Amino acid sequence: MLQELLGLGDVMEIIIGKYSGFCNGVSNTIKRANLELDKDSNIYCLGEIVHNERVIEMLEDKGMKTVDDINLVPDNARCIFRAHGERREIYEEAKRRGIEVIDLSCGKVIAIRKKIEKKKDSFVILIGKKNHPEVIGNFSFATIGDIVENSSDIDSAIDKFRDSGLNNIYVCGQTTFEEDKFLKLVDEIKEKINSLVEVDNTICSATHDRQEETKELSKRVDLMLIVGGKNSSNTKELYNISNNNVTTYLIQDVNDLDNLDINYNTIGIMGGASTPDIVINEIVNYLKR
Ligand code: SF4
Repeated sequence: MLQELLGLGDVMEIIIGKYSGFCNGVSNTIKRANLELDKDSNIYCLGEIVHNERVIEMLEDKGMKTVDDINLVPDNARCIFRAHGERREIYEEAKRRGIEVIDLSCGKVIAIRKKIEKKKDSFVILIGKKNHPEVIGNFSFATIGDIVENSSDIDSAIDKFRDSGLNNIYVCGQTTFEEDKFLKLVDEIKEKINSLVEVDNTICSATHDRQEETKELSKRVDLMLIVGGKNSSNTKELYNISNNNVTTYLIQDVNDLDNLDINYNTIGIMGGASTPDIVINEIVNYLKR
């Protein structure tokens, strides 16, 4: 894979991942939020629009108000639903109260939601983090099913499937889940159940490429910097992948480097899906100094 190579004299080499930074979904969300705010600054956003304080501040400066509960959005107001999507009940509540939804759910998240909604005759197993908004949102569109995050969740999911009286299982995943773990859990489910299991690998290609490059890059450098918001699931996955191979720091921005040992010859940098280029550039400038 091609990466950006920055040689800094004889002492340090910095390699920035080719797939570092905004994915298309986050990029579209920010563009569309900006366009909406240019037309009308009186807009609410339900939850952090992306897991990055810098981006949130920029949009809030234009008037966007971030709230963490639909009850804090006044009736008939305009409200952004972010890239992760929302629960079915929240869409229904918004409709009931005349809230105009600016739905910025990523197309890939919506595609999973629609598939889950159609699988009325299957027991849906959604592999992902139980407390992740995308998982909670998409799972709310299932008629019946369970969420599996770890191997220890599988037996209970299979018991629920048996109780359901259904014959088929449909398995899909959180778009930003670690792909190797997803495939391992799928194998474990298949080993335990003979019924027809339909598997949809819904890990987003942007996530797949970023994780693969992180794996490869972390084997070639002396230190990895994974850059992203503290609440970002995809960034935590990158940290876990990289930390298996080399010393890895998970940082939000350049300020986090102050107390860390960065005395390494080759440093790899990978930004999460919500990390703007400006944050990466500041880190590179710091390392140069
Ligand atoms: S990681 Fe993939 S699914 Fe998630 S917002 Fe980005 S493009 Fe969409």
